[in-house]
Amino acid sequence: MLKKKIKKRRVSKSEYFINITVTLVLILFAFALLFVPRVTLNAPLKEIININSSYTDKGITISDILGNKRIVKPLDKINTNKNRDYNINYTYKDNIFTYHISKKISVKDIEKPKIKLNGNLKEYYCPNGEYKEQGFSAYDNVDKDITDKVKVKKEKDKIIYRVLDSSGNKSEVVRKLIAKDVDSPSITLNGDDNIFLNLNEPYIEDNVTISDNCDNDLTSNIKITNDIDNTKVGDYRVTYEVSDSSNNKSKIVRNVKVREPLKTNTIYLTFDDGPRDGTTDVILDILKEKGVKATFFVTMNGNDSLIKRIVDEGHSIGIHTASHKYDIIYASKDNYFNDLEQVHKRIYDITGVDSKLIRFPGGSSNTISKKYSEGIMSTLTKEVLNKGYQYYDWNVDSGDASFATNPYKLYNSVVNSISHDKYNVILMHDTKTYTRDALSSIIDYCLSNGYSFDSLDIDTMPIRQRLNN
Ligand code: ZN
Repeated sequence: MLKKKIKKRRVSKSEYFINITVTLVLILFAFALLFVPRVTLNAPLKEIININSSYTDKGITISDILGNKRIVKPLDKINTNKNRDYNINYTYKDNIFTYHISKKISVKDIEKPKIKLNGNLKEYYCPNGEYKEQGFSAYDNVDKDITDKVKVKKEKDKIIYRVLDSSGNKSEVVRKLIAKDVDSPSITLNGDDNIFLNLNEPYIEDNVTISDNCDNDLTSNIKITNDIDNTKVGDYRVTYEVSDSSNNKSKIVRNVKVREPLKTNTIYLTFDDGPRDGTTDVILDILKEKGVKATFFVTMNGNDSLIKRIVDEGHSIGIHTASHKYDIIYASKDNYFNDLEQVHKRIYDITGVDSKLIRFPGGSSNTISKKYSEGIMSTLTKEVLNKGYQYYDWNVDSGDASFATNPYKLYNSVVNSISHDKYNVILMHDTKTYTRDALSSIIDYCLSNGYSFDSLDIDTMPIRQRLNN
């Protein structure tokens, strides 16, 4: 067996010392490293800040081995209102060392201008026409209004709007164009929405007015259908339909009511503004004595018992107004109906009658309402019908609210204004003493001259004046 002698190397004393020293130094160094604070930047090394924006430096964070943290802010200040580059320095000193960190911040205009289009991003235009520019504007954070810098490029199916601000930021918006007519023709009735015909009275077609965004004249495309039978009392409809060359359709309806004609030779006495104690009660006595029925358009005035008597004694009761103040009731639709509802409720609460008869203060033809709201009477006359009411004007003004201020004048005024050829709806006021005092003679004259009396009801053909507002 071969024996090998392995010679053991001896470590010298000096080598041993060196080894120990190096190890100790390394341990000390590692130990010292533990006490070196950790430094962290709280924002990126390079930052770009938009001009005119607000900026707060996040600083650097110094943390030691014990977990203590402190934030160090730079001494340098930044003006964010100017285009400029900054070197920012953070300095921190401890017992042994000084630490330095620097970073770059650039203040720049990095915001794109904004293009705003009037109209839509997708616009339809008439196939037989051209798209009409709806307009646009451009605004930049630095340059402000730069609408005049917008470059418009029109292509077959789109428009491209581009703009560049003074810092070279670009914006672009595209508007899509589609050659298609998507709008229906507009259709409005000529004449009234609601027509009243006497039995056997011919219906006269007023037609409609059409306008369309793409087609000039659609008159020949109007289709009118109606189911009117004027030999029968009833409600009928006239329907108007129209379609444009792109087949967009519109439709509107007119209502026609065929009614029993009012009898000529008939007198409808109508009393407004009451009831009033001392006049209405006497008027009711006279009507009872003569066997005549009349119509009372009442207010909130007078005793409740008079409202009850009107109904109990077979007269018609209608709504006049609660306030009779033109500046209030004709200022708005809501005001009018609030006022009307008060009287409607009063009548209902006292008598149980859900009255649908209306007389407008000043009549439907009044012009005073124009002072408070333009067009209010046109709105109200339609709206009351929509709500199921019926309004009644007059064709004989007794004059008791103007010139006929004593019983003799009033008597003369009435007997000279009534006629055998028409139905006479006479405007009177049961609040006037001379009306009360003339009534008996007026009724006697009428009866002895072949007239008869009747009261209005919801199916009575209304007398209506021409609207002036
Ligand atoms: Zn009145």
